[in-house]
Amino acid sequence: MLYDVAVVGSGFSAIAVTINLLRLLPAPTSIAIVGDDPGFGRGTAYRTEFYVHRLNVPAGRMSVFPERPDDFVEWLQEHMRQVSADGFASRGDYGLYLRDRLASLLRDHERRAKVDFVKAKATDCIHCSEAGLVFHLDNGAELSARNVVLCLGIGNADLPLASGKVDAAAESRIVRNPWRLSWLSRVGPSDTICILGSGLTMVDQVLALRVHGHRGRIRVLSRRGLLPQAHPPADRRAAAVEPELGRSREISVLLARFRKQVRDGADWRGLMDGLRPVTQKLWQELTKEQRARFLRHGLAWWNVHRHRIAPEISSRFEPLKRDGIVTVHAGFLEAIEEGPRGALVSYLERQSHRPRSFNADWIVNCTGMERAGVAHSPLLRKMQRQGLISPDELGLGLSVDQGSRVLDQQKEPQPGLYAVGALTAGQFWEITAVPDIRVQAQRAASAIAATLRG
Ligand SMILES: Cc1cc2nc3c(=O)[nH]c(=O)nc-3n(C[C@H](O)[C@H](O)[C@H](O)COP(=O)(O)OP(=O)(O)OC[C@H]3O[C@@H](n4cnc5c(N)ncnc54)[C@H](O)[C@@H]3O)c2cc1C
Repeated sequence: MLYDVAVVGSGFSAIAVTINLLRLLPAPTSIAIVGDDPGFGRGTAYRTEFYVHRLNVPAGRMSVFPERPDDFVEWLQEHMRQVSADGFASRGDYGLYLRDRLASLLRDHERRAKVDFVKAKATDCIHCSEAGLVFHLDNGAELSARNVVLCLGIGNADLPLASGKVDAAAESRIVRNPWRLSWLSRVGPSDTICILGSGLTMVDQVLALRVHGHRGRIRVLSRRGLLPQAHPPADRRAAAVEPELGRSREISVLLARFRKQVRDGADWRGLMDGLRPVTQKLWQELTKEQRARFLRHGLAWWNVHRHRIAPEISSRFEPLKRDGIVTVHAGFLEAIEEGPRGALVSYLERQSHRPRSFNADWIVNCTGMERAGVAHSPLLRKMQRQGLISPDELGLGLSVDQGSRVLDQQKEPQPGLYAVGALTAGQFWEITAVPDIRVQAQRAASAIAATLRG
């Protein structure tokens, strides 16, 4: 069977594309959804069942429909959740909301497109032409579609260490993918944990450990030791401040302008919020060198100021730091060896470059996603070898055009092939969170609907 559209993936991007397709495509059309995650639409972010795992974006900005911004807040009210538009709902609830919105569209059997859920992973693209695309799936089947939307996410970053620097005997202590939360049940209450990375994933894991009854030490090691900033409580939140961009796009000049705005009285969080609607445009105005400079020197700072934690999360995390349960080390991981008292984690301290080490029972990789590009996906690696896709020149996923159409090796749009989500960060940069992905998903679905109508 030749589907009109295949959506490959099972996270937020996939459900957002599917919801939009269901609203746009009439009954005779057909959609296949290819993914093997349990709980379609939840992906890594929204499958957690821990109530302490909160959204980091206020509920009023998390509707899956850009044109109906209150939709998620209304769902929260209907379900008696005590979260207002400026509050931070649990991520588990957000997953339920997405499931409900999809389910209500699927109930309209008469008018909607036909949808098949295919529980599999796409492993290879064996044909790609004007007539359509054919994918191999890991269940042995082939899937053909006129249009395909790749919603693959960007996967987990690897351990920031060459494999030769990890003692095989210590391997069983390393949690490479902390999103498989089953590792928590193997942790003893007084075990010492080493978390690599100090961003949002680290905070999530620390809180999940506490909920699981862990009361031991947690040592956090990251290159800079920077921790995510927090959103203030709603009554102290500043309005968005329009950034003074000026003409220059040199990162140092832009930064100096923003610093001056803050010195002159602007709230820095308000300024970050004011930057958000113009970030994609600003990114596209940067040269390759300017983008590279930003990634080299600014990324760690951007992340901690841009991706802030909910105030409720901060008030749980801060006391753990204050009481010395969580300690933060800035340095470069050098080796993980098995020793008499667990794993010995060695690193070079950031400023002094002095060798340091500590023992840990568990080492958890929370270095996040910033370095993940095409390499994490066997499907994308094969497509790259065939020249069907080209990686972004700075390693930020796939090359796509302004309409999210995937570009081939010659930088020409592949007919009928789109990508949605953080895989397209090279083109858009600000494309990792719901407020941006939902717009991209709607545009891609509309473009596909237009070609099918034409
Ligand atoms: C812990 C966490 C918390 C977050 N919190 C927020 C928040 O509060 N607010 C916000 O706006 N954003 C948040 N984000 C950002 C989040 O990344 C996006 O909101 C969104 O979930 C991204 O969804 P995605 O579908 O693009 O990627 P993912 O959720 O990573 O999903 C990708 C899916 O594709 C599947 N897949 C991969 N390869 C294949 C293949 N070959 N065949 C079939 N399927 C495949 C994977 O199994 C996976 O299910 C958070 C992210 C994380 C990790």
